[in-house]
Amino acid sequence: MGFIDSNDFTVTCEKCGATENTRVVQRGSSFGAHWSDPPALLKFESVWDSEARFGPQLTSAKCRKCGIDAKVDEK
Ligand SMILES: [Zn+2]
Repeated sequence: MGFIDSNDFTVTCEKCGATENTRVVQRGSSFGAHWSDPPALLKFESVWDSEARFGPQLTSAKCRKCGIDAKVDEK
């Protein structure tokens, strides 16, 4: 039970100031660990790389309101 690992991301639109946090978690045991599906974001259209070595990575996000690329920070 519980999380083995997690990836946290913060997305910020530098035009309108919208910001949103998101997380994917790895669950299970060392024998059967799997990553949760990347969540949909409310304020941003997100593009995930789910084949990444260390779990899903948020590769880019676009502000739904402004239609421009937002800044993605991994925590
Ligand atoms: Zn925006």
